[in-house]
Amino acid sequence: MGMFRTVWAEVPCRKCGARFGVGVQFKTGDDGLEDYEEGVAIPPEHGLVPGQTWEGIGQRYCKDCRRQHQDGYADVEKEALASMVEAGGLVLTHKKTGDTVEASAIRESDSGGRFDTVGLEITWRGTRTTDNNEVWSQFYGSVKERVDAGMRERGWAAGGEQYDDWVIIIADECRPYVGERL
Ligand SMILES: [Zn+2]
Repeated sequence: MGMFRTVWAEVPCRKCGARFGVGVQFKTGDDGLEDYEEGVAIPPEHGLVPGQTWEGIGQRYCKDCRRQHQDGYADVEKEALASMVEAGGLVLTHKKTGDTVEASAIRESDSGGRFDTVGLEITWRGTRTTDNNEVWSQFYGSVKERVDAGMRERGWAAGGEQYDDWVIIIADECRPYVGERL
């Protein structure tokens, strides 16, 4: 993980519109985890200049919506994995016992969050993902695609994405502001 800087600001939740506090992270290439408050002048020695804009990234949703999103994500992801097992492309086996995980076990798993694949061997379309980064990427992409589609069906326009792109604007007197990406 590289270094970055953070601007703390209040922004509207992309789901319910409520304003919430977000730390928007951005990189200039010469960063040391500096923290700034929106609208509060940054000392000149920090090297930022009025007129600059930086691409930043931060949470999309307020705390309540984030919790709903995470719960929905866990359900949708379980359904995606279970249907991939049923379709035959995905085989999950316990590394210790060699036992295969049934689709119903994935659907019924109640870990209070996302389905946990720790300790499982993941085989996608006949190739163990631990042996092959390319196959792992294909598997991961396939899950992500299904999760995105499932989340959009549930009313989350950005699918499984929990973060958003924001723009950091360095305004007069080196005061940073967070804006929506144009
Ligand atoms: Zn919200």
